[in-house]
Amino acid sequence: MSSPLPPSPVWHPYAHLKTQRPAPRVVGGEGPRFTLEGGETLLDATCSWWCMIHGYAHPRLVAAIREQAGELCHVMLGGLTHEPADRLARELVRVTPAGLNHVFYSDSGSVGMEVAMKMAVQYHQLRGRPDKHRLLSLMKAYHGDTAGCMAVCDPEEGMHSLFAGYLPRHPFAPAPTAPFDAEPEAVAADLDALREVLERHHREIAALLMEPLLQAAGGLNMTSPHYLQGARELCDEFDVLLVFDEVATGFGRTGRMFAADHADVTPDIMVLSKGLTGGYLGHAATLATDRVHDAFVGDSPEHAFMHGPTFMGNPLACRVALESLAVFEEEDYPGKIAGLNRVLREALLEDQALATHPAVADVRVLGATAVIEARDVAALAGVGDWARKQGVWLRPIGRWLYTMPAYVTAETDMRRITDVMKGWFLAR
Ligand SMILES: *Cc1c(COP(=O)(O)O)cnc(C)c1O
Repeated sequence: MSSPLPPSPVWHPYAHLKTQRPAPRVVGGEGPRFTLEGGETLLDATCSWWCMIHGYAHPRLVAAIREQAGELCHVMLGGLTHEPADRLARELVRVTPAGLNHVFYSDSGSVGMEVAMKMAVQYHQLRGRPDKHRLLSLMKAYHGDTAGCMAVCDPEEGMHSLFAGYLPRHPFAPAPTAPFDAEPEAVAADLDALREVLERHHREIAALLMEPLLQAAGGLNMTSPHYLQGARELCDEFDVLLVFDEVATGFGRTGRMFAADHADVTPDIMVLSKGLTGGYLGHAATLATDRVHDAFVGDSPEHAFMHGPTFMGNPLACRVALESLAVFEEEDYPGKIAGLNRVLREALLEDQALATHPAVADVRVLGATAVIEARDVAALAGVGDWARKQGVWLRPIGRWLYTMPAYVTAETDMRRITDVMKGWFLAR
């Protein structure tokens, strides 16, 4: 692992600079594995922060980028358009919940969320409700690292308490507690808590933001579709827009194409990124209903939506997103995801030794996502190195040891990952 070069000037994310070791250098990959300089190959249990849903070097995605690169790599979307942007927008309208008919592109999940928040605030402004300029978020939420997003991340456990003085203040509702398969009655307490915050704050609230069904980076909290239905009703009652951040959950992660599909709910605004391009290029889409879009149709200069990232609608990104969607639909990804879910449930949920292990607080599975929640962050110290010795790339978040594999992960590889996750607690 020693490198002949001087230390790299690359500043790594979320890294403790004093204790970090040189990052392994990745030279390539294929399917669910990537390869390091020197030949070591690791099975990626995280599919690179959950975005490489088709795995590495997928021939169709690589070919789509190559082809598009020969035609048009980039052109501004200000006043111009191109075929991949138009076609992808149509496809996203087709696959997302009915009613999301308008697509605003940007270049990352965080910016996609910034767009959603600005859209919600300006929507109320244009309707003569400028007092509705705050956002309601949930505890345990994670919506990105830009300032607007940090302000709606969990204010206590989130990574961003350091910046509290710099950020706008928004109200928070408690994180939902009823699990995915809870009966409707069991969700009532969560919805009562949400109602209470809305009753107190609705006059100043533009939108309720949530990661539907899976609060991902905030601790893989898996919640009920009934909560989404109840939230939809409360938002209508209190004239608050509902924003689904499906940056992590979109494109199959929860077992359906979108988390919203489990509840048959259409949010007013929905944000997609991570899996959108199959992870091959950074891009995001913020979708809106006619109701939101049409509020921006008007005569005053204030009616323009004042946002426009340089790389929005980038042709390479749109083209590879189209190919990603085609692969998803043509190669039975729902079936692949259901297969991974079966392995995760059997290997992790049904393991009594794991469930009763003193260091384990909880084990949860939803779609192609599984987490072993440790009681204490110290219980996971060294797990990454240990897994690597067994050929698996695991990178826990805090006390959450999780997997969100590429959907092309074979059953034997999925078992390899669950064996290593379990082995950390049971077989050392
Ligand atoms: C990753 C993530 C984001 C931020 O996306 P970036 O592309 O990293 O800016 C926002 N919301 C959720 C739910 C995410 O998981």
